[in-house]
Amino acid sequence: MATSGSLDSLTSKLREIHHLSDAAAVLSWDQETYMPSGSGGIRAEQLATLQTLAHNQFVSPEMETLLGSFLDLETGTILPKHQASLDGTAQALLRETWRDFSRAKKLPSSFVNDLERECSLAQQVWAEARKTNDFQRFLPNLERLVSFKKREADYLGFTDSPYNALLDTFEPGSTVAQLRPLFAELRTHLIRLLDQIRNSTVQPNTSLLTQSFDTSKQVDFGRLVLKQMGYNFQRGRLDLSAHPFTTAFHPTDARVTTRVFENDMPSCLFSCIHEGGHGLYEQGLSPKHYGTPLGEAISLGIHESQSRLWENSVGRSQAFWKYFYPKLQEAFPEQLGTVQAEEFYLAINQVAPSLIRVEADELTYNLHIMVRFEIELEVIEGRVYVDDLPELWNAKMEEYLGMTPTSDAEGVLQDVHWSFGAFGYFPTYTLGNLYAAMLFHQAKKDVENLEQQIGEGNFLPLKNWLNDRVHQWGRQYSANELIQRITGQTLTPQPFIQDLEEKFSNLYQFPT
Ligand code: ZN
Repeated sequence: MATSGSLDSLTSKLREIHHLSDAAAVLSWDQETYMPSGSGGIRAEQLATLQTLAHNQFVSPEMETLLGSFLDLETGTILPKHQASLDGTAQALLRETWRDFSRAKKLPSSFVNDLERECSLAQQVWAEARKTNDFQRFLPNLERLVSFKKREADYLGFTDSPYNALLDTFEPGSTVAQLRPLFAELRTHLIRLLDQIRNSTVQPNTSLLTQSFDTSKQVDFGRLVLKQMGYNFQRGRLDLSAHPFTTAFHPTDARVTTRVFENDMPSCLFSCIHEGGHGLYEQGLSPKHYGTPLGEAISLGIHESQSRLWENSVGRSQAFWKYFYPKLQEAFPEQLGTVQAEEFYLAINQVAPSLIRVEADELTYNLHIMVRFEIELEVIEGRVYVDDLPELWNAKMEEYLGMTPTSDAEGVLQDVHWSFGAFGYFPTYTLGNLYAAMLFHQAKKDVENLEQQIGEGNFLPLKNWLNDRVHQWGRQYSANELIQRITGQTLTPQPFIQDLEEKFSNLYQFPT
């Protein structure tokens, strides 16, 4: 009884800390959606105060005592006297809390403060540098950030490569040794498919997607799709922001955003579906475990698998549009009334190499990620100087996508990630694609007539399957364990490659 009593104290302390970080998250959401543009300065201070309070409470002596009563704070091993009495859920809760706690403790608070200051400074400089296409301006900041990140890796500790420590922040358990062969295999297939697509005579007519589409009608349609997916508007909402995102403060309050352009209809639509996938994950986490690691998403890769599964495996499928295309035509009769479903389906699945990652298609997107992964690795492992990055970037773009950026703004300066110190983040996007395909293949085996159900607009069997297999577990299992539990396989690019082959050989009419 004493054991469960102090476990309750631990979870209620964790919950209290979460209230602070959730309050900060509400402020961030507001900042990206409705905040007046003039209040950025004070908002940054408000956020910093709340985040510091949350951090200080998490590394406090009180937490140390609570956690230390269950496990060895040095090694994370559960004390022998508790080993028999704690069930698997309690052990997972302690394991994951210790993971966060020990990582937080390893970073000196002066280091964290310096890094945060550098990041907020670097983000402003990056935005200016991108706007003026001036890499030299961003260079000193980027150099400092890289050296911060190398120090961070040293503090956290690692085996084989300092990059592993950074990767582990976003995708626990993932390593360079795992990613290298995985990406190499994937790359061979992507390049082959891309060649076949380039040689095809089939030309999607994408101009039908860039006609004038009423923006409020676009958002209404996005809302309709979200509802049908099972996204609960009593426990979430859809708003507009410059960059679409999902944020959650509890499973009963998981919000998504989209953006809308009159002459780019797919942007709003697929942002809604993508963020809807993230939103369903957050709404599907266990309220019982709120505030603890068991009420949190496993990793960025698994989170991204949920958005990509809905966006690509479902939202770019023929079955999905069998149901939704007549509705889209009804919403936009002038623009799409005479356009055949097949023509529309081909247009939204166009594959074409491009310079900008966020505009890339389902296939070439992963080549953009590989470029970034390889560059990050070179820089963090110290084989390349930061001032050589523009050249390296352009060379890799030519090698992977057959295109060379004509400016750094559309090259090495295009992504915000490095400016907030997020090295090791990019690979999670491709991991998300691979996990998504593995999960969708399994869902097709487990859910009877899944594709037929999707074709009839019945998405609940899929949503419920994801709730049951993925969402409700929080961080009970690692990403690798979860995938293996669900599919019986370790991470493999094969289902993803197979899906691309099937779809694009059919659309672009080439033999597999
Ligand atoms: Zn996403």
